[in-house]
Amino acid sequence: MNIILLGPPGAGKGTQSARLVDHYGMRQLSTGDMLRAAVKAQTPVGLKAKAVMDRGELVSDEIVSELIDAELAAMGPDTGAIFDGYPRTEAQAEILDQLLEKHGRALDHVIELDVDEDALVERITGRFTCANCGAGYHDTFQQPTVEGVCDKCGSTEFKRRPDDNEETVRTRMQEYRAKTAPILPGYEARGIVRRVDGMADIDAVAASIDAILG
Ligand code: ADP
Ligand code: AMP
Repeated sequence: MNIILLGPPGAGKGTQSARLVDHYGMRQLSTGDMLRAAVKAQTPVGLKAKAVMDRGELVSDEIVSELIDAELAAMGPDTGAIFDGYPRTEAQAEILDQLLEKHGRALDHVIELDVDEDALVERITGRFTCANCGAGYHDTFQQPTVEGVCDKCGSTEFKRRPDDNEETVRTRMQEYRAKTAPILPGYEARGIVRRVDGMADIDAVAASIDAILG
């Protein structure tokens, strides 16, 4: 199974990916996570990408596509892939088709998380993650069961993304509208887009995705 989770920043792609990884043993391929790891490790890619990410703009198609290619090459053929935050441009969508063919895969579904943009700023500015295991939380919508302690690994260290501020979020939304939303019609023409109400609560969104995956 190969699926794309599509939706603007804060739509819930990472949250739902984490659940699919836990429940179905699928693998999450998040170019945002890969780029943040590269920034942290100060690799040549990370050094190049950092300023672009801090502004909320898009990193080059070539860089992110190479990251995806490497991940697909390292995966067993039977492990399902969840593309989270990729593709984000029409060029990336074309490259992804080529990469899937190269690695003997085919797209099953493009799951579009349909969300109200006004709610996204609140989702993003309240987002935080476990500094140890990366589990995702929210100040209002998804607090750890015990305050200050990660549900998954017990760590008490948490972090926030530098680009999760209101100004950068606005740029990221604009990038989504201008460059990412236009990839949808191509997938619609192929009959593989499944729309899910991303404004429902986290469990309800998960149930809708489960229904699609059958
Ligand atoms: P994305 O990966 O699409 O950028 P995330 O999955 O990181 O988005 O979600 C953004 C924030 O919103 C996180 O803090 C998450 O806990 C919270 N969140 C995710 N889905 C929902 C939902 N359905 N309702 C309320 N909050 C949500
Ligand atoms: P995300 O974690 O998906 O919100 O991505 C964080 C940032 O990483 C984005 O604002 C971009 O700067 C960069 N990024 C992540 N994925 C891509 C992609 N597929 N194409 C271009 N830039 C990306």
